[in-house]
Amino acid sequence: MLLIHPPVVRPCEPPAGIARICGALNHYGIHFTVLEANLEGLLDLLNSQPCSADTWTLRAFRHLLRHLNSLRDGEAYKKEGQYRRAINDLNRLLKISGISNGVRLSLVNYEHEMLTPTRSRDLIQTAKHFEENPFYPYFKKRLAGLFKKSMPSLLGFSLNYSSQALTTFAMIGFLKRNYPGVKIILGGGLVTSWMRNPNWKNPFQDWVEHLVAGPGEVLLLSLLNIKGTGNIHYRPLYDPFPLKDYFAPGLILPYSASSGCYWNRCLFCPERAEGNPYHPIPEEKVMDDLLALIHKHQPVLIHLLDNAISPSLMRTISLHPLGIPWYGFARITRHLTDLEFCHALKQSGCVMLQLGLESGDQTVLDALQKGIQLEEASLTLKNLKKAGIATYLYLLFGTPSEGLPEARRTLEFVVKHHESIDFLNLSIFNMPIYGPEVEQIETRAFYEGDLSLYTGFDHPKGWSRPLVRQFLDKEFRRHPAITPILRRDPPVFTSNHAPFFSEKTL
Ligand code: SF4
Repeated sequence: MLLIHPPVVRPCEPPAGIARICGALNHYGIHFTVLEANLEGLLDLLNSQPCSADTWTLRAFRHLLRHLNSLRDGEAYKKEGQYRRAINDLNRLLKISGISNGVRLSLVNYEHEMLTPTRSRDLIQTAKHFEENPFYPYFKKRLAGLFKKSMPSLLGFSLNYSSQALTTFAMIGFLKRNYPGVKIILGGGLVTSWMRNPNWKNPFQDWVEHLVAGPGEVLLLSLLNIKGTGNIHYRPLYDPFPLKDYFAPGLILPYSASSGCYWNRCLFCPERAEGNPYHPIPEEKVMDDLLALIHKHQPVLIHLLDNAISPSLMRTISLHPLGIPWYGFARITRHLTDLEFCHALKQSGCVMLQLGLESGDQTVLDALQKGIQLEEASLTLKNLKKAGIATYLYLLFGTPSEGLPEARRTLEFVVKHHESIDFLNLSIFNMPIYGPEVEQIETRAFYEGDLSLYTGFDHPKGWSRPLVRQFLDKEFRRHPAITPILRRDPPVFTSNHAPFFSEKTL
């Protein structure tokens, strides 16, 4: 069996979904190979002689090795200018690699000027014309080499982000043309979202043998005639990945202690719309896994991938510190209003918490059913600051209950707490195409693609996307207390690298 992680996603840590499948296959002694095509493909393009001779590109190519070394040995994170130069130069080389194929390519993005991953006919066209993909020279050589050694009976792609979709289908097209006997399985977060749409009809029957919604290991194991594996927990296996090659100053080890979300009440949340149940891994197992993985791989940072780390798990980690810095998403709850709890978290290695506040207006928070009180949010930010834990705050503008006055209250909240906010992520609301609350809202076609996850809608307060964008660009981002927070955000890698810019992670 061959498991493929297709480009493009940020190449800073191994993919947790495939690592979980590797753990399951390993448990049953099934032979498999992993192809980290994202990291390998990006490195292949970066190392190719650029097809442009402009000064910036040539200089970027000359400095390539130095940039990669500095991102891997930690030097780049000590000087912000050096880090930004490295990222800009790498992006420059990728941009030049994609231009002749009509692709805007970067370390995090893959956008075709004509084809969109939200349209199945574009994905099929990509499969038919796979030679036009900028990664084609890489995957042709690499897959042919692997298949010469042994022909896999099954081949699985993990497709989580739309930036991976076009190249995934180019690889599928290449495989179908050259190795027609190979059976292809397509799973991952993006495929799950497509398939959970009540109007889903499979447009890929001629290209993919099995599409999987949810955890891929259950279907994979059943295809291998191993049944009754649904509730078994497998420790993720990271050995098959090129752990020293990721763009990080040591290994960032990703780990999910749960799937779904323990709160599961926020309006417009994709987890809720997709009906993903909450499945926490028992805490003893989580601690066993983490300690064993730390012992084996000596990571520099643990990335907890849960939608929201439960307060109970935070307490357990505080009582049994991991000895390694860690970070992840947490809900703003009363636990974080307890300064001692925050100090204990810090002692346990917590270097950063990602907090989905979304709004600084209580009526908007209540309408979204976030279960957050602004006084608690305020105290949480202050406590985390005192405890020395960095905060990465997520805000969402343009939700149906927000108008300009509410957005201005968010601005006021952020300004008032600017000294306690280390990083900020600003998003504009997209109306999901399905979900319990969407039926009550007047929607209209927005993206024309049949695979689109979003739809247009008439904002009840007339607070349309252009107005939201205008507010953000002309007012919010320009506020002297907010601009420095936004400038601090590491380009491209954002929250994945942010902990390395907080104290004492390196
Ligand atoms: S906390 Fe996050 S994952 Fe959980 S319901 Fe709210 S938005 Fe969804």
